Amino acid sequence: MILVPPYDLWCMGTIAKAWNELRAEVPDHVSLVAVSKTKPNEAVVEAYGAGARMFGENRVQELVGKHENLTHHDSGRTDEFEGLEWHQIGTLQRNKVKYIAPFVHLIHAVDQPSLLDEINKRAASHGRKQNVLLQVHIAEEQSKFGFASAELPQLLEQLDGDRWPNVEALGLMGMATFTSDEAQVAREFSGLRKDFDAHGRQRNWTTLSMGMSGDWRIAVAEGSTMVRIGSSIFGQR
Ligand SMILES: *Cc1c(COP(=O)(O)O)cnc(C)c1O
Repeated sequence: MILVPPYDLWCMGTIAKAWNELRAEVPDHVSLVAVSKTKPNEAVVEAYGAGARMFGENRVQELVGKHENLTHHDSGRTDEFEGLEWHQIGTLQRNKVKYIAPFVHLIHAVDQPSLLDEINKRAASHGRKQNVLLQVHIAEEQSKFGFASAELPQLLEQLDGDRWPNVEALGLMGMATFTSDEAQVAREFSGLRKDFDAHGRQRNWTTLSMGMSGDWRIAVAEGSTMVRIGSSIFGQR
């Protein structure tokens, strides 16, 4: 008979090992966001212990809960998670921005001007400047969100102006089509990299967020500076 141990025992060591192997393989200049969505606090703790500092979540409620449990509190005694950054990686609804506005380090998937209005307003109310990435639609699937590449010039003009003073755009984010056709995935990432270069050089952009467990190697080869990896670190969801 096989006994399945509780999650924390089951995973002891495997997450840290996966993190270490991945961190060794991903080039040093590429940031590695550990996507902990659906996984318990203990999984985050283990990855943090192995050296992970950026954690990605796609549901606001889960992000807020983990932040409350695990974040470094300056005034309190729980300083063991110093340096931990929370990243909102998935589609974000406008009415949820207020819950993450006090603390979220980077919002990856900004896909509408009205979302920027809300992020700007909430960031201002906390005296913060909110880091964001603009999501660009690069996949052939209808279901993936983001701005069209052709919409960027006008949007960036507004970002350079004074419409969103409490928003700081650091770069772009995109998700490739879910396909085994690696040439297609490479083409899509390459197109995003061209947009990043075309608009980012004069703006000193730092961050091109592209690549997940299944396609990060292709993304890095095409110039990604930040990969978002879940299942290869934490196991299947
Ligand atoms: C879940 C998710 C990831 C990570 O996916 P894996 O395939 O588990 O690595 C990356 N980016 C976004 C936007 C996600 O929602």
